[in-house]
Amino acid sequence: MKIYRRRQAALLICIGTVLVILIILLIIIFVSKDSEPIKDPDSLSIVQSDEVSKTEEIPVGGGESELQGSLYFTEKEITIKVGESYTAEVVNETGAEGDYIWESSNNSVATADRGIITGQSEGSCDITVTISGTDKSAKLRVYVESGESDGEHEVVEEDGLTYIDGILIANKTYSLPADYDPGASEEALAAFDEMAADAAAEGLNIYISSGYRSYYDQERIYNNYVAEDGQELADTYSSRPGHSDHQTGLAFDLNSIDDSFGYTPESDWVAVNAHRYGFIIRFPEGKEEYTGYQYEPWHIRYIGIDKATEVYESGLSLEEFLGIDSEYKD
Ligand SMILES: [Zn+2]
Repeated sequence: MKIYRRRQAALLICIGTVLVILIILLIIIFVSKDSEPIKDPDSLSIVQSDEVSKTEEIPVGGGESELQGSLYFTEKEITIKVGESYTAEVVNETGAEGDYIWESSNNSVATADRGIITGQSEGSCDITVTISGTDKSAKLRVYVESGESDGEHEVVEEDGLTYIDGILIANKTYSLPADYDPGASEEALAAFDEMAADAAAEGLNIYISSGYRSYYDQERIYNNYVAEDGQELADTYSSRPGHSDHQTGLAFDLNSIDDSFGYTPESDWVAVNAHRYGFIIRFPEGKEEYTGYQYEPWHIRYIGIDKATEVYESGLSLEEFLGIDSEYKD
């Protein structure tokens, strides 16, 4: 009986010791599991890519640990112009905490600076956003188109001709080819006839004294003026060949073609009515520094009723209206 009790006691001690060890082991495992994510050196490092010059981060709010939701852009692809910026919108449904890391597959086409995507040159590339410390990322296709030269107006160059907002331009900066020989525009002539008829109904007589001029006509006229007055003075009132508004076929000189016209009732009427027929005073008073020419109340230019009305109401010269200059390069 004594022996049996001793064995029983020894057995109990053994079982007790094993249980205590097991409990201690379980506590150690539990505590170590809980503390494991506290320090992960990788999650604290800033991701840098050699190919990416602008890696920016924006802290994002996040929830718990499971990354089941997705990260995506509100747009799949965008088209921007060179110099234009677009603020990317990212939806984060992952609940992940971490910074946004922005990367462009080609920084010479478009950059992504804190989610602001800016076109750098024509082409296409991918903008990728990644939540740091995770594999959650989203991709946006970016197409970059060439920007307009002045940013506001549509400039089209075609066969040596320059159209700005659809208006053919001939001035000291923009020239026409020597072989551009359209003759007088039928549309402009019809508009003039209507205008002259309405003026006549008010007892006024307006007529075209000089209309279309070819490159070679202008060359002869300009060279005569240079011979008389010298080039510097001739350039203030006569165009070099290829630079004349008259070569467009859309310009007319009215009546006396000199300063005396400015003192006639016809001049007063044209000044306030021409836009209703699609014409503007091409070289207005006080605008020499923009147009490159002295005031010519008699020189009207057809640009269509809508545009002429806009220019008239703006009080600007055509150069100011279109944001262009008029200066010879030499
Ligand atoms: Zn003229």
